[in-house]
Amino acid sequence: MTRSIADIMRDRDRLLGPGVSTFYDDPVHIVRGEGVWLWDAEGRKYLDCYNNVPVVGHCNPRVVEAICRQAGTLNTHTRYLHEGILDYVDKLTGTMDASLEAAAMTCTGSEANDIALRMAEGMTGKRGIVATDATYHGNTALVSQLGRSNPPSVGFGLGQYFRFVEAPDSYRRPDPDGQTFAAAVETEIAAHEAEGHGFAALVICPYFLNEGFPQNADGWLKPVAEVVRRAGGLLICDEVQSGFGRTGTHMWAHQKMGVVPDIVTMGKPMGNGHPVGGVVTRAEILGTFRRGYRYFNTFGGNPVSCAAAMAVLKEIEDKDLVAHAGRVGEHARQRLFALLDKYEVIGDVRGSGLIFGAEMVLDREDKTPATEFTDRVINAMRHRGIIHSKLGRHKNTLKIRPPLPFSIENADLLFDTLDEVLAETSVHA
Ligand code: PMP
Repeated sequence: MTRSIADIMRDRDRLLGPGVSTFYDDPVHIVRGEGVWLWDAEGRKYLDCYNNVPVVGHCNPRVVEAICRQAGTLNTHTRYLHEGILDYVDKLTGTMDASLEAAAMTCTGSEANDIALRMAEGMTGKRGIVATDATYHGNTALVSQLGRSNPPSVGFGLGQYFRFVEAPDSYRRPDPDGQTFAAAVETEIAAHEAEGHGFAALVICPYFLNEGFPQNADGWLKPVAEVVRRAGGLLICDEVQSGFGRTGTHMWAHQKMGVVPDIVTMGKPMGNGHPVGGVVTRAEILGTFRRGYRYFNTFGGNPVSCAAAMAVLKEIEDKDLVAHAGRVGEHARQRLFALLDKYEVIGDVRGSGLIFGAEMVLDREDKTPATEFTDRVINAMRHRGIIHSKLGRHKNTLKIRPPLPFSIENADLLFDTLDEVLAETSVHA
């Protein structure tokens, strides 16, 4: 190790500027990864229960090989003809409804969402966007205005085009059939119309991951999709976190939620860590966007990115990772329910496939969020070699979202350790 943790922290501040976030009171210096395991600079091993980006496992050999082979053959910008992007988009769109047949490739999820909003403007001639009040959709000047968990304090004055509905919360405000959510969206659409912006789109993560993944029933988005269509707007599903089999029942969470969106955006797991994102939509929407916005992206869809992304899709398919995520996720939830019976502090258990977690409360009656306790648990787990995090409006929900090859044995190690930590950690500091 060339620098101590203290030196790295100081140099991060000096070289990268203040406020670059880290995890844990005692940040981890990771130097190597393999499958679901990570190693720090001192050789300590950690079980990765957090990272969704390496969806087919850290340093997956098939992805590494595809990247190296393509990087050793050709990598260039996207104005030359290359079949890699065509083969990839063909395979990717093959995982969705037939209407979602074309794509624009990007480097990040933020770019993908930025494009999606402009597509909605292009198609509808309107600018009013509706999102949830506990979301995050990226970091461009446009989409950063949608971030509610850590909203920017300055911007380009685009805020008037965004209206927010209360994020669904199955634990505190049950809405079993999605009608309350649909009605709230309808109200915000009417407000956009009244203000003269009109309504362009609803943008949501179909599994509301940043919002704390409420336990919504399959098909739950159908009523809101109807509201959006009736108002002449587009439904944008941000699958940056929820896509690529994460929920263990479908490749895409919108399929689980029973809707065919107009636009699907993606990123994070798409290249297993290689920066690649995309926007999949109908040919008509993409055509209107390309003609109107003259979009060009130097790196988006370059041959190496497409090789990485193709290897991810093939790995998910060949290893049947969606079904695997479903099986292991079910076991994980059983283990979590057993902990709910044992510890009063666990108020609710949620999730599907390999996104699961528990909401921590000081009392089950009032459901007072145990935010500090959750923090202490996460830090204690980190010291025992288990990496995960927290999320949700009150930052009191354990966020467990491992690479998809995560096994039953991995889940048992996670929950055996969590059991020990919950037994030892006092609810009141
Ligand atoms: N959408 C969602 C739902 C996200 O969680 C994120 C990143 N956390 C983004 C978009 C932005 O993706 P990126 O960081 O690749 O720009």
